[in-house]
Amino acid sequence: MQNTPNSNRVNIVIVGAVNSGKSSLLNSIVEQNIAIVSSEEGTTTDSVKKAMELIPFGPVLFIDTAGFNDNSKLGNLRIEKTINEIKKSDFAIYVIDGNNFIESEYQENISILKKYSLPYLIVVNKEELLSEEKKNEIKSKINNCLFISTKNRDSILNFKKSLIEKLNILEEEPSLLKGIVEYGDKIVLVVPIDSEAPKGRLILPQVQILRDALDNGIKSIVCRDTELEEVLKEEKNIKLVITDSQAFKNVDKIVDNRYPLTSFSILFARQKGEIDKLIEGIEVIKTLKENSNVLIAETCTHNTSHEDIGRVKIPTLLQKKLNKKINFTFSAGKDFPEDLSKYDLVIHCGGCMITRKNMENRIKFCNEKNLKVTNYGLVLAYLSGILEKAIEPLK
Ligand code: SF4
Repeated sequence: MQNTPNSNRVNIVIVGAVNSGKSSLLNSIVEQNIAIVSSEEGTTTDSVKKAMELIPFGPVLFIDTAGFNDNSKLGNLRIEKTINEIKKSDFAIYVIDGNNFIESEYQENISILKKYSLPYLIVVNKEELLSEEKKNEIKSKINNCLFISTKNRDSILNFKKSLIEKLNILEEEPSLLKGIVEYGDKIVLVVPIDSEAPKGRLILPQVQILRDALDNGIKSIVCRDTELEEVLKEEKNIKLVITDSQAFKNVDKIVDNRYPLTSFSILFARQKGEIDKLIEGIEVIKTLKENSNVLIAETCTHNTSHEDIGRVKIPTLLQKKLNKKINFTFSAGKDFPEDLSKYDLVIHCGGCMITRKNMENRIKFCNEKNLKVTNYGLVLAYLSGILEKAIEPLK
């Protein structure tokens, strides 16, 4: 269970004013001292993350943030980091210190959660210190809050029960293959083993599609592009060929219109939502001028090599196609640039390392700034002249 990727866990961010008891709550939930607890303001600096199996709900990742309303020296930086975590999460636990409830702060913080469409559970902490009168006053200002005491085990058990009830009604990430192929169908996954392929293992998008096929009773054949022709001759009734986007051109030549064809990256673009907007983003390529600025964003960090898809292949092919010099900037990992003012287009990877909500928030953030986003697989299909063919299976 600890091997479940964080993108497949429900990401739960714990927010609230500094010293409202967020870290104590996390320690009580996981029954370990993992978050730093201190009565001194602003003690928790960076987010503390803890993956766990929340029984009977499933795998989750708790993210304890530095907090809102931080008046310490590093306050602004901490608040910015907290908002970054909110953008990437699926659910929030908003912790209020019952002894220090300030309605205006509460309204302001709730509006941040609403801005990023984040469902939440409000807990009023330090119940053991609150009079009935104080509790009634808070209840009259907050609908549906839960009073807890991190010092009381029964209170934490009750909190976990309420949390699971809320999580159970969250929308699940859709299947990568459902709606494209059905139970009993046969698919071929093409995984080129070149110098970019990590030694001794498959990369996460390939593993997740294989797992999705198994979950849905879809038979998969995995081969390299060098053996694809042989596989296509031997096998009958293939419903879909899925290739690494980098091999689109070669694989398209081999498949030769016999079977529908798409890529791992395009399937991820569909699963993470907003595929239509990402397809629209392709149109911007045609409008790029000499020295236009393009942001290439991926959500994992890895070493680059001469065959790197984001840093080398896409920039080279794009400039060749347009016969223009384009300025590329690269962003990697879970943080996304705040200042997008200079960019004309964002080309994003499949985002297998982030949740659907996180990807939706990135696209929304760009679109609010009139900036279009597209996807690695879509760009490589377009540059290979097979965009229509590669998105046909999604229709
Ligand atoms: S580049 Fe993107 S899609 Fe590819 S493995 Fe990394 S996070 Fe996943």
